[in-house]
Amino acid sequence: MSQLVCPKCRALLNPVVYAEIEVDRCPDCGGIWFDAQEAEDLKTIKGSESLDAGNPEIGEQFNEMEEDTPCPRCNVSLRGMLDIDRYSIWYEQCPQCRGMWLDAGEFKQFRQNFRPKTWRDRVKKFFRWKKKRSR
Ligand SMILES: [Zn+2]
Ligand SMILES: [Zn+2]
Repeated sequence: MSQLVCPKCRALLNPVVYAEIEVDRCPDCGGIWFDAQEAEDLKTIKGSESLDAGNPEIGEQFNEMEEDTPCPRCNVSLRGMLDIDRYSIWYEQCPQCRGMWLDAGEFKQFRQNFRPKTWRDRVKKFFRWKKKRSR
């Protein structure tokens, strides 16, 4: 398989295998490319957060990039997705192959959000609702 190029910083991605699932991780910015379903599969596997070894501070900087990010597989623009209720993270998904790009630190958050909602999430939701109403 040919190497994929990081959609954020253009470095060549390194294939990393965890529990027989291969993802592609960027050695520079620490972002990870998951093919369709891989992120969903991996988050249920114990210890998979070790894949997300990048520095979340660097990941955050790349998260703010507004310009077009091409899918490393099919080269169409990734769509920024904000799924606060399910994942409370920004992530990017390819509309064509359904692959997902997670910046450094995001897979860990993605995994945590797999847990059932806690009282703290409910409090957060309440505050958001209040803010909206007071506008
Ligand atoms: Zn990169
Ligand atoms: Zn794609």
